[in-house]
Amino acid sequence: MEFLKNSEGYISGEEISNKLGVSRASIWKHINALKDEGYEIESSPKKGYRLVNSADILNYEEIKRYLNTKYIGRTFYHFHHIDSTNTKAKELSRQGEIEGTVILSESQSAGRGRLGRVWCSPERKGIWFSIILRPDIDPVQASKITLIGAASVYKALESMGFRECKIKWPNDLIINNKKVCGILTEMSGELNKVNYIVMGIGLNVNIDQNDFPEELKHIATSLKIEKGEMIDRKKLLGEILNNLETYYDEFIHSNSIDTTIDICKKNSILLGSEIQCIDRNNIFNAKAIDINPEGELVIQLKDGSIKNIISGEVSIRGLYGYVE
Ligand code: ADP
Repeated sequence: MEFLKNSEGYISGEEISNKLGVSRASIWKHINALKDEGYEIESSPKKGYRLVNSADILNYEEIKRYLNTKYIGRTFYHFHHIDSTNTKAKELSRQGEIEGTVILSESQSAGRGRLGRVWCSPERKGIWFSIILRPDIDPVQASKITLIGAASVYKALESMGFRECKIKWPNDLIINNKKVCGILTEMSGELNKVNYIVMGIGLNVNIDQNDFPEELKHIATSLKIEKGEMIDRKKLLGEILNNLETYYDEFIHSNSIDTTIDICKKNSILLGSEIQCIDRNNIFNAKAIDINPEGELVIQLKDGSIKNIISGEVSIRGLYGYVE
């Protein structure tokens, strides 16, 4: 692949075969596999092979030039189809796969939201991936990881010109009152030890209105729908992973998520509004007033009392803004 990318024009089968020490037949097989992946490669019996167009796929080969991370995304599993990247990431975590490993699939048949809800993930239209983290923290701190994810995606979108995006604490990103990204963090831990955390991020990038099932059309959007043009998924993924490493490192090394909190607060869709909180037993209204340094949502109840909510404890619905 590198050969084809680095050569301006045609490169002959013989040249590749000499340099790599492989047979012409095996090159031919490899070229066909690349074509199947979506790379456009011209072959001429006399001149050899020429890469016409890189495929719009998010494998390591394609995204590495956008990465300036040390460990996040440096081990990279790429799938064309999978049930759920979170499920795969958990399986790999159990087998000992290292921190920073990314599992990405071009499509998911059983992508998940919270509480087992389905996440719609059409092929090559979004960025559907999970990351394995192994922080040496108390399990109660794990919910901070979701906020780190939200801040990372937010900043990546901002750098690509999306200024209208809002963060709905703790795990969704919203544009024009519609969900554009969801984050699902799952943890395996013991009483005072995290074994691993898997954070799944689903970002709707080049989804068209008609790709959404009927029930999502009014509550979901994509970057393409908002901007009216295709968005470069490779660059965007690179930005997200770069940000993730920056904010996660800050958390691990200084035990603070101040930068993350700052981003989540400044761009929150909830703060200052009336919200509806749904926990296992009841539904109540409150006003969202702050996100504290621990990443908890601070709410004020009708009787004036103040309560801190840990992410994952309750579902939040905006009463006047974003309505699911
Ligand atoms: P919430 O945090 O809002 O309670 P979840 O994080 O559980 O929701 O996400 C799952 C829900 O998101 C689904 O029930 C569905 O309504 C919605 N959804 C599913 N796929 C998508 C998508 N690609 N884009 C936006 N919303 C989606």
